Amino acid sequence: MKKRLLSGIQPSGTIHIGNYFGAIKQFVDLQEKYDSYVFIADLHALTTVQNKKILSQNILNIAMDYIACGLDPEKVCLFKQSDLTEVAEVAWYFNCITTMPFLERATAYKDANQKAKEINVGLFDYPLLMAADILVQDADIVPVGQDQKQHIEYARDTAQKFNNIFGETFKMPEALIMKEVAIVPGLDGRKMSKSYGNTIPLFGTDEEIKKAVMSVVTDSKTPDEPKDPDTCNIFLIHKLFLSDSEVKNLREKYENGGLGYKALKDMLYEDIIKYISPMRTKRQEFENNKEKVLKILEDGALKAKANIKDKIKLIRSNIGLDLK
Ligand code: ATP
Ligand code: MG
Repeated sequence: MKKRLLSGIQPSGTIHIGNYFGAIKQFVDLQEKYDSYVFIADLHALTTVQNKKILSQNILNIAMDYIACGLDPEKVCLFKQSDLTEVAEVAWYFNCITTMPFLERATAYKDANQKAKEINVGLFDYPLLMAADILVQDADIVPVGQDQKQHIEYARDTAQKFNNIFGETFKMPEALIMKEVAIVPGLDGRKMSKSYGNTIPLFGTDEEIKKAVMSVVTDSKTPDEPKDPDTCNIFLIHKLFLSDSEVKNLREKYENGGLGYKALKDMLYEDIIKYISPMRTKRQEFENNKEKVLKILEDGALKAKANIKDKIKLIRSNIGLDLK
């Protein structure tokens, strides 16, 4: 039997090349090898997106993005988180066995707090909703970027705690993080994030992609000066789109000097467009066929729901809620 893979992306904005290389590409590469479940984390997105029109459009967009990137609905169960209301139920059970200080240690929470944002309870509780997503599906592996590593640890700790209190219920999931793409840098050198506004949108227009590429932050070296590829954001992004031999060539161009940042950005732009061109074509097919996308999500929800039926029964029974 194949092991089970599960992962998701929040419809909190427009997906970017960090989401693609850090997450979606892994889902695509692994879809044959694993029994795969990939979802749209719309309940999670509600912690930041609170506008009906924007949220629903973002959800639809991510569904199309997934398919355009190469996820095959025949092989992967694609669904939206909110169609599995049981996940929110299980997150509640987890709330009741988790202490506040344990959640206060979450890096994402600490970051948000530091920015003196007012944190909503949903954001604080993010790791437990994610633990519920993973644990109800008996996921073996969860491919994610480095930023999600701690959240997988939360899921493991929560599974263990629940099992200790209520008896064996959940299996231990493992994170799968690809070293080379663990943290794709954004235009400003921080992690590329939808919420930081430092992204190169994967399915942006030519103009949007060009504008983003041209605003990658660099130092002020002149064209003639040699450049250190390993500290240059342009190179660190560019290498994702290239084969090993192409990366080697490009590295030499940086180290030899003679090319300015404008020229290096132009080369990056060209290679992005070349890379995404077939995915764009595929996405267009679905843009004109919303019904087809909705049907895929509907079928996915049915399958994902059927999959967790016994687990939900077991959870309720182990807690003491099932009186039969
Ligand atoms: P937000 O800013 O709303 O948190 P995000 O851009 O961080 O959005 P998520 O939906 O939180 O995207 O994450 C989806 C997946 O993409 C996760 O597996 C996450 O680890 C991965 N990911 C996000 N940004 C990057 C990045 N810069 N490099 C590698 N992986 C990333
Ligand atoms: Mg994130």
